[in-house]
Amino acid sequence: MPITLSHYVLDRWHAPEDPRIETRSAVTGEVVALSASAPPDIAAALRHARRFGGPALRRLNFPQRAGLVRALAEALLARKQELYELGFHAGCTKGDSWFDVDGGAGALFSYASTGRRQLPEGRLLIEGESERLGKAGGFLGQHILTSRQGCAVQINAFNFPVWGLCEKLGPALLAGMPVLIKPATATAYLAERCVRIFLEANALPPGALQLICGPMGNGFDHLDGQDVVSFTGSAATAMKLQRHPVIAREGVRFVAERDSLNASILGPDALPGTPEFALFVGEIVREMTVKAGQKCTAIRRIMVPAALLGDVEGALKQRLGQIQVGDPRRDDVQMGALVSLAQRADVREKIALLRGEASLVFGDPDHIEAKGADAQAGAFLPPILLRCDNVKSASAVHEIEAFGPVATMIPYRDGADAATLANLGGGSLALSVITHDQDFAAALLESSACQHGRVLVLDRDCAAESTGHGAPLPNLLHGGPGRAGGGEEMGGLRGIMHYMQRTAVQGSPAMIARITGEHQPGAPLTTGAEHPFRQRLGQLAIGYTFHTPEREVTLSDIEHFAHFTGDTFYAHMDEAAARANPLFGGRVAHGYLILSFAAGLFVDPAPGPVLANYGLEHLRFIKPLKPGDRMRVALTVKAKKQTKPDMGEARWAVSVTNQDGELVAAYELLTMNAA
Ligand code: NAP
Repeated sequence: MPITLSHYVLDRWHAPEDPRIETRSAVTGEVVALSASAPPDIAAALRHARRFGGPALRRLNFPQRAGLVRALAEALLARKQELYELGFHAGCTKGDSWFDVDGGAGALFSYASTGRRQLPEGRLLIEGESERLGKAGGFLGQHILTSRQGCAVQINAFNFPVWGLCEKLGPALLAGMPVLIKPATATAYLAERCVRIFLEANALPPGALQLICGPMGNGFDHLDGQDVVSFTGSAATAMKLQRHPVIAREGVRFVAERDSLNASILGPDALPGTPEFALFVGEIVREMTVKAGQKCTAIRRIMVPAALLGDVEGALKQRLGQIQVGDPRRDDVQMGALVSLAQRADVREKIALLRGEASLVFGDPDHIEAKGADAQAGAFLPPILLRCDNVKSASAVHEIEAFGPVATMIPYRDGADAATLANLGGGSLALSVITHDQDFAAALLESSACQHGRVLVLDRDCAAESTGHGAPLPNLLHGGPGRAGGGEEMGGLRGIMHYMQRTAVQGSPAMIARITGEHQPGAPLTTGAEHPFRQRLGQLAIGYTFHTPEREVTLSDIEHFAHFTGDTFYAHMDEAAARANPLFGGRVAHGYLILSFAAGLFVDPAPGPVLANYGLEHLRFIKPLKPGDRMRVALTVKAKKQTKPDMGEARWAVSVTNQDGELVAAYELLTMNAA
């Protein structure tokens, strides 16, 4: 029985009245899902997201949103088997589903962790340090990011229905934006099940997540300037949607992840028999066959030093010959089917175009064998390897994306030629360079990094831990310039920022401190009788400052410290040599001695709410201290964040000054404090 796919809008499932769009199994050809031929009321769905989902998410702080994203990841993992079973109909082997489903859960877990560790406790993101805008320090500028008050409309491609959904959903929810998902119809049954799993986890507030299965109709007519469209798919669809008049009129943020002619380059040092040669062959075969080559990051162009072309061809043919195509549930099958017969027809058309300038060296697009499956009913295709010898006149190999198990070998002369050829793709998502020659890799990247969103430089030293050419990672940017769409997704905090609005706020230090919830240089300080180390995290007030008494730094302190630590650098120990130094003009105290004395001055020693010192950041030594100088310290509560129910991090601004009030050293101290 086919699954009838429902929309989920206005916080309930709506079974379509007219489910006329049929989706067939990639393997058996039977109808597996029916989608609506008309969308629900998208204007109402967008209003609902803006009116209920957005405010509910924005009421949560970042750690609470991170908890919610984590709950979705856990729910997905707990029920992944359901998705693995459905994945069969999309032609996925167990390994393909692992990429999609476990990869999706992994992206959510990673975002939950980014949210918990890297985002503040509030709802506002502070970007960088404040800028001093006036001479006297009474006027500051600070970039902040707040949640956009619209809806994130996320349109996904068919090839990763779960991962693609998760890698966009996590950042949007963390940013405080409700989401309307529009999956590709060809695999919407997987996306719909995934959304059901999320909703049944009961973690999301009303209006935070909605789903449309089937076409969007005139949905774009109802977008406004606070909405974000995050699109993944072909360049042709992206261009059509980007040209929608409402996108231009309302200035709707449009993030596009499009198709890409990714390349992999074998270094001239990677001769047969080297680890790099074997790595290269392994990467190519994996990229051609995982998801039957239906990966936006898959290697389409195999660039090889001309002298090694025959060796590479031989090795690839041998490895591709071992790939068994067929029923993806079988353990002895390495590659399943393409998503649909229509997709296979499209790939065959593209192969025919590529064959205009490249010869077929492995695989026959018209001869299909499928182990354990009906080769006529399913969308099977063997791996297809092409070879382009006439590089000078070739253009199709750099322009046509056959979105299937298809790649073309292209010979190159030298590093400059390889970079030029790689760049002919007009902007790609992923480039890999497989070489152990650091000079070759460095020169290549200098001239081609700007054309690629991510570059893997693979060699024997990183192979054991490498995540491979085709795997986008949540903490690294996914996207590419030019043809790849110019979009950027994921990349840790960067991915979250797409769903937030950056604002430059100007004002007095006190005002900026109040708005950001962090102490700012020049903002009023408070002080009191109680040492701040006696206060629990919840009691610490931003701006509360402890001023220490003065301490003299003597020559014998410096010598004692030098001998005790072994740091007898001449600037501390040799008056003549220190005098000749253009910066010191005589012996000076060690920077680490100043830090140690500072701690000795501000630490309150008895057991209390401060549990541990766990580091310093942004340390600068600004003016040296000479024997006989006196130092004192101001310790100010800059920011704080509860990281666990019973404890959290306090960030202290520390400034060390001399007897004349001049700044000697400044840094931020991090402590773990009881909550
Ligand atoms: P596609 O045909 O362009 O469709 C992409 C999405 O756009 C689908 O959800 C599709 O829905 C939707 N869509 C089409 N017309 C629309 C309209 N008028 N209004 C709103 N939505 C509309 O691409 P695909 O065949 O699914 O995916 C394959 C392509 O995606 C390949 O070229 C691949 O390189 C690219 N891709 C890129 C990335 C990346 O991160 N850069 C990742 C994966 C895939 P329907 O299915 O209902 O038409």
